[in-house]
Amino acid sequence: MKIAVISDIHGNLEALTAVLKDIESMKVDRIHCLGDVVGYGCNPRECLELVTNNCEIKLVGNHEFMVMGLIPKENCNSIAQISLKWTREQLTDYEMTLLEEFEINRTEGSFHFVHASPHEPDQWNYILDPVQADLAFKALKTNYCFVGHSHIPLICVEMVGDQPRMKTGHDFVMDEEYRYIINVGSVGQPRDSDPNSCYVTVDTESLDVNYRRIEYDVAKTQQKMTQAELPEMLVKRLSIGR
Ligand code: ZN
Repeated sequence: MKIAVISDIHGNLEALTAVLKDIESMKVDRIHCLGDVVGYGCNPRECLELVTNNCEIKLVGNHEFMVMGLIPKENCNSIAQISLKWTREQLTDYEMTLLEEFEINRTEGSFHFVHASPHEPDQWNYILDPVQADLAFKALKTNYCFVGHSHIPLICVEMVGDQPRMKTGHDFVMDEEYRYIINVGSVGQPRDSDPNSCYVTVDTESLDVNYRRIEYDVAKTQQKMTQAELPEMLVKRLSIGR
């Protein structure tokens, strides 16, 4: 089976639409979404609807947790608080009930899906260094794990008796002898200096992993965010992918 794994859409409708169009051309069997559908961007409702209609697995991210009031506001930075308040005002009761159906994680055979890390999934740890990767591998019960959260495409490989190895996201075939944690990057707010949307396709039999980078109308998204009076820093970062 071929699956597409998307994450961190952040209310960016132009990015999500472009990615879904590309996924259609890739002839995948299922699409899984690892969370942060809302927050930062100006189309949380439309993105929620598209994810609900197109994705098989739907996970919560920290931004869904914040919108649902499950993380104290004081624990978010000021820009996240502004965007959180704006996002919460947009969502209807119906959309809030959709969010309640999102899961914290899901295991399917040898594949595990979670927004941040298999280690304390509701504590939103960032897997960006070997120490966090090691904790994640210790908590992981399957061979292959897909995460989002940091918005950085990254491949972690478990090394028996040594620290996990970390590599920038790239196309490769997973080796059955090893265990992997793969960050699929971000659809709506990439932070690896490439403004194009990022997602991954995986063949669950051949274990082929492909990173896809998709252009979208960044200027249009930025114009809409400015009109919605969302923080300028959130608007600007989309053109540089930081
Ligand atoms: Zn995010």
